[in-house]
Amino acid sequence: MNKRKAVPDKSICVACGVCALQCPRKAISIHKGCFAVVDNEKCVGCGLCKKACPADAIVIES
Ligand code: SF4
Ligand code: SF4
Repeated sequence: MNKRKAVPDKSICVACGVCALQCPRKAISIHKGCFAVVDNEKCVGCGLCKKACPADAIVIES
C-alpha cells in the first residue's frame, strides 16, 4: 500500500489554492483562508500539488 502523503508547510504557504485545484483526489482545502491542509485519508501522494505550488511549500513524505 502506498503511504506517501503531501505535507504542506503552513509557515510557507500563501493560501493561493493552486494545490487544491490540481489535486485529483480533492484532498486539499484551505483552512480558514490561511493555509493548505491535506486530508490524509484522500491523499495518494501523487505529487501534483507539490509540482504546482508556487511557494514550494509542500513536501511528499512516506
Ligand atoms: S499528493 Fe496528490 S493526492 Fe495528495 S494532496 Fe497532493 S495532489 Fe492531492
Ligand atoms: S499551492 Fe502552495 S502556497 Fe498555494 S495554497 Fe497550496 S501549499 Fe499553499
